[in-house]
Amino acid sequence: MIQSFSGDTLHAKETIAYFSMEIGISHNIPTYSGGLGILAGDLMKSFADMKLPVVGVTLLSEEGFFSQKIDEEGNQKEFSVKWNPHDFMVQLPNTVTVSISGREVKVTAWKHMIRGVSGFNTPVFFLDTNIEGNSPYDRTLTTHLYGGDREYRLCQEIVLGIGGVRMLESLGYNISKYHMNEGHAALLIVELLKKTYHDGLTEQKCYDLESVKGKCIFTTHTPVAAGHDRFDVELFRRVTNNYVPDYLLKEALHDNMINMTSFALNHSKYINGVAKRHGEISKEMFPGYTIEYVTNGIHPPSWISPSMKILFDKYIPGWLSDPYSLRYALAIPKEDIMAAHMEAKKVIIDEVNSRTGLGFHPGRFTLGYARRFTEYKRPDLVLFNIEWLKAIAERVGDIQIIFAGKSHSQDTKGKDLMKKIIQSAKSLNSQDCKIRIAFLENYDMSLAKKLVSGCDAWLNTPQRPFEASGTSGMKAALNGVPQISTLDGWWLEGHIENITGWSIGPHPQDPGFQYDNSMDDEAADLYTKLEKVIIPTYYGESDRWCEIMKHCIAINASFFNTYRMAEQYVSNAYME
Ligand SMILES: *Cc1c(COP(=O)(O)O)cnc(C)c1O
Repeated sequence: MIQSFSGDTLHAKETIAYFSMEIGISHNIPTYSGGLGILAGDLMKSFADMKLPVVGVTLLSEEGFFSQKIDEEGNQKEFSVKWNPHDFMVQLPNTVTVSISGREVKVTAWKHMIRGVSGFNTPVFFLDTNIEGNSPYDRTLTTHLYGGDREYRLCQEIVLGIGGVRMLESLGYNISKYHMNEGHAALLIVELLKKTYHDGLTEQKCYDLESVKGKCIFTTHTPVAAGHDRFDVELFRRVTNNYVPDYLLKEALHDNMINMTSFALNHSKYINGVAKRHGEISKEMFPGYTIEYVTNGIHPPSWISPSMKILFDKYIPGWLSDPYSLRYALAIPKEDIMAAHMEAKKVIIDEVNSRTGLGFHPGRFTLGYARRFTEYKRPDLVLFNIEWLKAIAERVGDIQIIFAGKSHSQDTKGKDLMKKIIQSAKSLNSQDCKIRIAFLENYDMSLAKKLVSGCDAWLNTPQRPFEASGTSGMKAALNGVPQISTLDGWWLEGHIENITGWSIGPHPQDPGFQYDNSMDDEAADLYTKLEKVIIPTYYGESDRWCEIMKHCIAINASFFNTYRMAEQYVSNAYME
């Protein structure tokens, strides 16, 4: 429905649909779990800023992703989040139905408008099955994000993929491209193929495969096999009521499971990973497909601290609608950068002190680590040898570390790591030493913004090659905060030693490189750099530190943003 676009656009007659199981727009709309959803929200915001004719489709996730509390022993407790869709969106009169295990399930939608920097509105549709006429079970299908069993997940994917296509049709959109953010929405392909049905000699010839493929774009997000959605064949047939043509099912069969990634790969003209290295890894994982990459980004207006924003507005007017101009951050005077950072730092230090009473001090070197707690991300690497870390602080100066992050409710290893860190922190905080460690509960978009802008350096220690991209380090860079990270995901592109931050462990281009991911060696490398380079520069050479801060902004924030991503999707995939 072109009327819903408030601005004139080049291609107003045709619309791009962006499908994602989660879209994270604001901490007030808790329908996201982490990186995947926040990336989707950031990208949608840039589409709005750029006045592109794109609409988003996702699920309402009425109880949100959980809110986190930590008990005395360091165990995570999960609580559902109460939020009221009426505060942020309007319920539409349109209803469509999808068939689930033979039942007709009604799907309705809520419309939230993302307002771009120049006032252009981009709609996101949140699908909802909690309506009268649906069975009690079906009413819960859009309640929990990543909750329930395999059957529940498959039902959600029917609502998202098939229900989403039907809803857009009911709203009058003429969709030219369907962009699937991860495989959860891949059933939309089946729906599109069904629409092309005509009599043909073979089952395959009944469908216009080429025209559907020409409309589909697929972004894969993880090199972790468990991250790819799969369903038992019997379950799949039963729940979809044999809606999916047999030959399609056969194509998507891997190890006797229906693989949603295969669906998406087989029927998308443009396929991409989320960083250069991740594109390469995806090619190895899925041989025979042409796989490109569009490195992730962040939406700068959403992640800039208030104090840094004032500075950018003053020295780089127009940067909000043109983040490439952040290139000019090199010319901002040192005193202004340092003062703006100190203001942002006081915000997070106050937050730590009011929540924990640990007496953090804004004059001390502060390291931040916040992300989903899961084994491959190795949140415990920086605490690998606590005696060594204490000795470093004695020799070169105080160290404060702030941790935050949730673990998925079934991720017992992630939860164990969280507990281990919280217990180490407790023990250290009770000692007379120069290290203080805080763990802040309930990592969400609002806490993330304070953390990435208020810490002095941002730490990331994933086991390679499992970090597809990572984006929190990009948010830090925007705020002039350098990253210290293993060379994986986006950091392979954004890292320049001593200029935008520091690496941990060997470089993939080193002779004889292999992924050994030794905790021993990598912790030693991290400790050595902290002691010899990073902390001495922070405390002793403020001119150099400030140059590093400016280079984070000029080199990384000007590139690793969703504005550039949106342009790449437009020129490489949407305009095809
Ligand atoms: C940015 C963000 C993420 C993703 O960042 P990673 O670096 O990929 O971990 C996850 N959760 C929240 C709340 C964020 O703001």
